[in-house]
Amino acid sequence: MRAQIDITGRLIGAVVHLARQRAPRVVTSHPRSPSPRPIHSRTQILLFAAQSPLSSTESTSSVPMGKRAATVEHSTQSNYEAVTVTHADLDLVVDFSAKTISGTAQLKYEVKRSGCDALILDTRDLAIQEVSVDGAACQFTLASPHKALGSALSIPLPAGAGAGSQGSTRVRFATSPASTALQWLSPAQTAGGEHPYLFTQCQAIHARSLVPCQDTPGAKLTYAARVRVPEVMTALMSAVPVDEPGRTGQESGDGTRTFSFAQQVPIPSYLLALAVGQLESRELGPVSRVYSEPSMVAAGAYEFSETDAFLQAAASVAGPYVWGRYDLLLLPPSFPYGGMENPCLTFVTPTLLAGDRSLANVVAHEIAHSWTGNLVTNASWEHFWLNEGWTMWLERRILAKLYGEARYQLAASLGILRMQAAVTDWGTDHPFTALVPDLSGACHLTGRPCQSWRCGTAATSSGEEPRPLTLAPSLALPRRHRPRRRLFDHPL
Ligand SMILES: [Zn+2]
Repeated sequence: MRAQIDITGRLIGAVVHLARQRAPRVVTSHPRSPSPRPIHSRTQILLFAAQSPLSSTESTSSVPMGKRAATVEHSTQSNYEAVTVTHADLDLVVDFSAKTISGTAQLKYEVKRSGCDALILDTRDLAIQEVSVDGAACQFTLASPHKALGSALSIPLPAGAGAGSQGSTRVRFATSPASTALQWLSPAQTAGGEHPYLFTQCQAIHARSLVPCQDTPGAKLTYAARVRVPEVMTALMSAVPVDEPGRTGQESGDGTRTFSFAQQVPIPSYLLALAVGQLESRELGPVSRVYSEPSMVAAGAYEFSETDAFLQAAASVAGPYVWGRYDLLLLPPSFPYGGMENPCLTFVTPTLLAGDRSLANVVAHEIAHSWTGNLVTNASWEHFWLNEGWTMWLERRILAKLYGEARYQLAASLGILRMQAAVTDWGTDHPFTALVPDLSGACHLTGRPCQSWRCGTAATSSGEEPRPLTLAPSLALPRRHRPRRRLFDHPL
């Protein structure tokens, strides 16, 4: 995910502007600044670019890189290690007037440990209406809500369900208007101003307010879905549309249209995603399209025309692309994030529409997540640094393939500078500057301390040859902070 536009893209974009004798203006965001800091002059830009940690005299001797390394997952109440949901089959109806989604989730599960008598799922602000197991109605228990983690849904397993046994449960449910995963936009919040719009944001632990699930990056599942929406709208998900190539959905004759999807690569719950709006699309490449409201789709097709080149560069570094499709959804102007790496369908902000493709590095970043984070996933949110750290490294490798090694060196140098500035700003003993933060307390809702990914980038890049930077000894992971057990659920 990109929470803000990367300074590298803006800086390089500004240098391009300088070369074209156009007035430069670079804006950089600072984590705690009330407003962006503008850099106005050519001199300031070149001074900023010329600063290198190799020549910096700033002391980093007291920078902590983490307090703990054990894999502990605090973000879920589910028993995913004892009973694992392996597949979800979703039937969903989107109701814009009520601001709810209702439907059913048919969940296949596998028992991993004998002696377990229930499947426990995460929910938050969901109305659980009916539950059955292997076709038979059952009594379920919905616990009183935890402020951050929601209400655990306990579903009894058939007697004698030992390790290795499989089954399925069907849950009828409805979301609430208070769902933290669902962002309902009024027509006034869209570019077209005519129709409402819906998009989801499930990272870090919001999927539980969309569907009952095991809401942790430590559990993965495949899914299929059918989504009914108003007839004038298009539904998209983080999956491959089943009705390729038309993608017009199936008319129901009652003013609605149903779209079908399949995600056959196992994903963690935070990568579930849905968007519904009045959308058009343009082809970007053999496996890519850009979707947006009609008024922005041509600009999006121009801005993101390098998408296929990014995909090929990434595959040459990280291996085959396994997700089938890589589409982009350009969201309405009120979309509050830079980008989100939903599989098969990256969400991006229209603030990337610079007109000169200078901010397309955000797309390279989200493409990189197709391998780091989406395919190989951190087993707990405490080790989120592995996700974003490796992704920043791969993003820069993609850009180096296209634009040369100097691009990598510049981006890596600026990244280290930003990390050092952030650590100085927040303080060396602040939890947000820990490489492996303790999320057992108040950090549940975000689950992604803002600086751990920058520290992670430094850690994951430290073995690079040629090394972009020489890390100060204090920035290398001390032995006591090195991982003591497997962190990835697949070998890297
Ligand atoms: Zn990211």
